[in-house]
Amino acid sequence: MAVSGLGPYDPQNIFAKILRGEIPCSKVFEDSFALAFHDIAPKAPVHVLVIPKGPYVSYADFSATASDAEIAGFTRAVGHVATLLGLDEAGYRLLSNMGAAAGQEVPHFHVHLFGGVALGPMLH
Ligand code: ADP
Repeated sequence: MAVSGLGPYDPQNIFAKILRGEIPCSKVFEDSFALAFHDIAPKAPVHVLVIPKGPYVSYADFSATASDAEIAGFTRAVGHVATLLGLDEAGYRLLSNMGAAAGQEVPHFHVHLFGGVALGPMLH
């Protein structure tokens, strides 16, 4: 599914390469639905990216075309990562840029998880 100037899924995007193990990442969590790793340029003390294992360009693509099991598995993985990071009590922020106009640069759907600091009304 091509959306918002990102085109169809590009298997050479950097997160696809991370999923295939072709480039390294600082892994936080992995299961059959999701991979979570530290952002290479963190914008908060905790800045983790959670990505689905399937080839989805964006949130729009994922939410429209992934199976219910993938959507449920990914959603649970995001919550599990926050718990693993000890953020449930302090709180955290989830963000996903959808499309080029929103600033999405990597064309593989990902959720940013921010925490470890008092978060202002806007971040990122
Ligand atoms: P933006 O950076 O404009 O928010 P995205 O929403 O597409 O765009 O976010 C891509 C994120 O991926 C950025 O926060 C960037 O720092 C991060 N990133 C890019 N390459 C890597 C990498 N190899 N390992 C970890 N994080 C990466």
